[in-house]
Parts: sequence; C-alpha cells; structure tokens
Amino acid sequence: MKKETTPELGAVKGMRDISDGEYYAYQGFYEKAAEIAHYYGFTPIETPILERADLFARGTGSDTDIVQKEMYSLRTKGGDHLALRPEFTPAIMRAYIENGFQSQPQPVMLYSYGPLFRHDKPQRGRYRQFYQFDLEVIGTQKSIVDALIIKLFLLILEEAGLKNLKVEVNSIGDRECRGNYRRELTNYYRKQTRQICADCRERLKTNPLRLLDCKNPACEETKLGAPSALNFLCCGCKTHFKEVVEYLDQLDINYEINTNLVRGLDYYSRTVFEITEPASAEAGSAPLAIAGGGRYDYLARALGNKKDIPSVGGAIGVDRVMLSPNYIRQNPKLIKKPKLFFIQLSFDAKLKSMEIIEVLRRAKIPMAQSLSKDSLGAQLSIAEKLQVPYTLILGQKEALDNTVIVRDMNNRSQDVVPIPKLAEYIKGLK
Ligand code: AMP
Repeated sequence: MKKETTPELGAVKGMRDISDGEYYAYQGFYEKAAEIAHYYGFTPIETPILERADLFARGTGSDTDIVQKEMYSLRTKGGDHLALRPEFTPAIMRAYIENGFQSQPQPVMLYSYGPLFRHDKPQRGRYRQFYQFDLEVIGTQKSIVDALIIKLFLLILEEAGLKNLKVEVNSIGDRECRGNYRRELTNYYRKQTRQICADCRERLKTNPLRLLDCKNPACEETKLGAPSALNFLCCGCKTHFKEVVEYLDQLDINYEINTNLVRGLDYYSRTVFEITEPASAEAGSAPLAIAGGGRYDYLARALGNKKDIPSVGGAIGVDRVMLSPNYIRQNPKLIKKPKLFFIQLSFDAKLKSMEIIEVLRRAKIPMAQSLSKDSLGAQLSIAEKLQVPYTLILGQKEALDNTVIVRDMNNRSQDVVPIPKLAEYIKGLK
C-alpha cells in the first residue's frame, strides 16, 4: 500500500518506483526483446541519459512539442545546457557519428533500452519518466529494413502476449516531394482557419505537416478532408513505399495505410509507422500507441554530419506493454523459482549460514531464506507460503557437525547431509 511521505520528499509527479515483481517483468521483457534483436543481427548500445540540449533541438526539432514543451533541460554550474534524453534516436545517431561507426560494415543495427523523460501531462500509460525498447538500422536506404523494424516490433510484442496488433503505415515523402505537399496542405488549411484549434493555427505557421498530428476532436473533420501525402510522392518515394508494403505483404503482416499518420518529429522522411493494440484501450477511449517509428534519412546532416546517412528505427513503449490486459509476464533468466528454503536456528547456525548460501550459489541452486527470523515456526510458515519442495534446516548441532538437514516438504521425510556433499545431494533430488 502506498504511504504518504512528506509531500516535499515524495517521488516527482509522473515518475515512480518499480520494484519486485514489476521490476522483474520489465527486466524479463528487455531480456526477451534483446534476445530477438540479437538473433536478427542487432548489437547493444547504451548512450548517456544526459545529452546536450542542442542535440534534441537540432535532431528532434526545435518546434516540436517534445523540445518546446516537454524537455527537462538544465544549466550546469559550468554553463553547459544539457537535457535528460526525451528519445533515443538523436543520441544513437550522435554516437554512430562520434564513434566512427561509418567505417564498419553497413548498415549498423543497434538496440537500446532504458528511461526517457518528457514533461507531459501524466495520465494512464503516460509518464514523465517512461521506458522504451529501441531499434535503429543506420546506413541503408533499402526498403527491406523499414519492413524488418516493423516485423521485429510485432514479434517482440507478440512474444509478450499482445494480440490483434494494428499496424498503420504512411509515407511522408522526402525533401524533393515534401515541399509540394506542404504547400498544398497549407493552402487547404488556410481556407479552414476558423474551424481549427489555436494550436493548429500555430502549426500552420511553424510546421504544417504536424497539423495532421492534432488529436483535438474540433479539428477532426478538417483533417479528414486534407490532401494525402501519398498523392504527392516523387518517383523514388513512391517506389520505396510500394516496396515496403510489398515486404509487409510477403511477411504476412496486416497493416493499414493511414494517410494522416505523420508523427510529430521533424526528422522523419518517407516511411512512418505506428502500432496499437485495441485491447489496451479503456472503454470509450482511443487505444494507446504501443510502438512507433520511421525513416530518418536527414537526421545525420541535421546533427552536423557532412553527408546524409539513410536510417530507420523506432521504439516500443514498455510501460504500455505492461498495461496491456494480454501481457504475459516474462521473467528474467536470473530469477528462478526457489527450489528450497533455508532455515537457520541458533547463533552458530546463522554464523555458518553464509557458507551454505555460498555453496548453493556456486552450484546455481536457487533458494530463499530469512536471516532475520529466529523461530522454526516462523521460518517454516514462510517456506510453506513459497511452496518450495524442500527446506534446509541448520540447527546448533548441525552447525557444529558440519551437516544440514534436508527435509522433503511433501512427505516430511528428512536426511542429514554433510555440507561438502550438499550441492551434489540437492542436484540429485527430483
Ligand atoms: P515516440 O518516441 O513518441 O515515438 O514513442 C514511441 C512509444 O513510446 C509510443 O508508442 C509509446 O508507447 C511510448 N511512449 C511515448 N511517450 C510516452 C510517455 N510519456 N509515457 C509512456 N510511454 C510513452
């Protein structure tokens, strides 16, 4: 049960502690996702949680909500302007450029996971510190990797039990064709300024593509009548998009083309996608997006690289996976159900207990114990709650004799086993 601490010392709004079963559920998910990524040729990368604020201003885009409204930024005593990372992609691209990954065989396929920070309004499935599992394929413009990323996200989510996942894809073109589309969209919205919300009137001036991102019901009708980016794609973008959907067909992936899908970040080009699970929605509310991403061929140059580095990637929102009613808990490999409960009685037994715990650890025998409890009854009742098949009992006599009692909890039979033979004896048990 949650207890009130002094309010001024409580956890920060939108941030929370994750412990015990919930912690293992996150770890189990990361382990499985990393294993799948590993089999498909991805390698891990961990970038710092703090980066220069400019990395996101230039990468994510200075007029995006993430940078303008949601970024946690700070000035150090030395005067550096830093930010808690609000997303992975610009940081991973920075690492790729800075560490000379260009000289490795291309593409470089990376995965990462961990916390991100956005000062958004907290609500169900939306936190200010949240967790993502991220995949990036850097250094190829081939359409197959766009499909690969979508396929892997689906695989990871399905392994976690999620069902009826809905994939939406769109293409927002490249720098050649997007200008025409932007002009057309702006012309259309200029005629509708009275029908749209104040935010959209602002977007019309700063970043018209993001008009299609608006979730305000007042703008819905205008959005539905908006021209579609797909009608403006240049030849190269048309071919690329056609290939992506052909790969998705070949991979038996059900998808919908959603011409209103643009995703709020500046760096996307060509393919954008989003994955939702309808079952994750509460009655009457729209389903939460579980994963999203896209191609970002111009990000490297926005970060100061001399050439474009065509790339594609995306991220799964891990907190939202945990909230799915279909989520099947994946335990990390480290956590094994205890095979036995270790009971110590008397001061001498407690002293000796570390030696026995170490014998069991070396033999990789999972066990539970309670060093703080003294009485046999209290310790036996924990063992019963844990439903372990065996208990080890170490009393004064056994501690002096260098033995331990092994008790079968089902038929109550027991053996006295010398400590040097203990691991072998336990491994021989069913
Ligand atoms: P994005 O980085 O915005 O493309 O988001 C990718 C995924 O991360 C989304 O589909 C969500 O599942 C998850 N996500 C984004 N923002 C949050 C948040 N504030 N809290 C929890 N999950 C989030």
